[in-house]
Amino acid sequence: MKKVYCIGELLIDFVAENQGSDLSRANTFTKKAGGAPANVACAIARLGGNSAFIGCVGDDPFGVFLSRVLEENRVDIRQMQQSKTFTTLAFVSIAEDGERDFVFSRGADRELTYNSKIRTGFKSHMVHLGAATALLGGPLEAAYGHYFFDALTERSFISFDPNFRQDLWRDNEKEFIKKCTPFIEKSDLCKFSLEEALLLSGAHNLEEACRSLHEMGTATIVVTLGGEGTYLSSGGQTATIPSIAVNPVDTTGAGDAFIGCLLYQISTLENAHEAASDFDAFAEMVKRANAAGALTTTKFGAIEALPHQEQLTAVI
Ligand code: ATP
Repeated sequence: MKKVYCIGELLIDFVAENQGSDLSRANTFTKKAGGAPANVACAIARLGGNSAFIGCVGDDPFGVFLSRVLEENRVDIRQMQQSKTFTTLAFVSIAEDGERDFVFSRGADRELTYNSKIRTGFKSHMVHLGAATALLGGPLEAAYGHYFFDALTERSFISFDPNFRQDLWRDNEKEFIKKCTPFIEKSDLCKFSLEEALLLSGAHNLEEACRSLHEMGTATIVVTLGGEGTYLSSGGQTATIPSIAVNPVDTTGAGDAFIGCLLYQISTLENAHEAASDFDAFAEMVKRANAAGALTTTKFGAIEALPHQEQLTAVI
C-alpha cells in the first residue's frame, strides 16, 4: 500500500453554536480541527490507509490539540512542524440569510518551511495538495511549490484540490486561477467542485469546463456535485456517478471524505498512475468515494464524521 502525503493547512475552526446569527451576535463556539488536507489525511487513515500530514501548527495548546487529533486518527505526523507563531484560527457562523460569516486569523500554517529530506519518501508514493491557504503567500507557498516539484521529480502520483474559498480570495480570483494553473497542468488527478471547475476553466458548463481543464494538462478530473454525485472525466470518457441517498445534517468535509476515499483506493493499486486507465473500474472507485462523502454529511463535524471501511461496505 502506498503512503499518501497530504500537504497544506491545519487549523482550528471555531463554529458558532447559535447558527442563524452573524459572528457579532454569536456567544458560544465549538472548537473543531479543520483544514482540508488534514481532513483528507484522516479520511485515508480512517479507511485503513497509510497517510502522512505535512503542515505547521503553533507552539500552543491549539497546536497540541491538532497534533493529537491527527495522531489519534493514525496519521503520520513526524514531518509536521511547530512554529512560535500562534495556530491558525477560523471563526465561522451561518447568518440568517444563509451567508457564511467568516473571520480568519492566519497564523502558523503559513510558516511551513521546505524540508528537502522528505523528498525521498515521495518515491513510489502519492502526494495530495489541497490548496486553500497554501497559495496565499508566505513560507508555506514556497514550500508547497518545492514539494510539488519534488513529487514531479520522484514521479509520485499527484492529486490536486484547489479548495477555493470565496472568503479568502474575494476580488482576487484572477490571482487564484494563475496560481492553480501549474498544478492543473501537471497533476494526475484533479478534484473540483462545480464552482471551481467553472472558475478555473472560464467555461459556462461542466462539459466545456472539463474539456478545457484537460487541455491544460490533467488526465483525470472528478467534479463533486453534492447530492447529485460526481462527474468523472478521463481518457475521453465521461459519466455522472450517482451518490447514495442520505439525510444530510452537515456537509462540512464531504469533499475531503470523497477525495480521501478515492486516494485510499488508488493507494492500494500496484500502479497508481494506471488507476484511471480502466474507466469502468475507476467509476466503481468513485462510487465508493461518493458513499464516503454522503456518510460524512449525516453527522456533524468533518473529522468526527469520516466513515470507517465497514460503514462504507454496509451502504454500498
Ligand atoms: P466541501 O464542500 O467539503 O469543500 P465539495 O463541494 O467537493 O467539498 P460535495 O460536493 O458537497 O463536496 O460532496 C462530495 C461528495 O459527497 C459528492 O460528490 C457526493 O458524492 C457526496 N455527497 C455530498 N452531499 C451529499 C448528499 N446530500 N447526498 C448524497 N451524497 C452527497
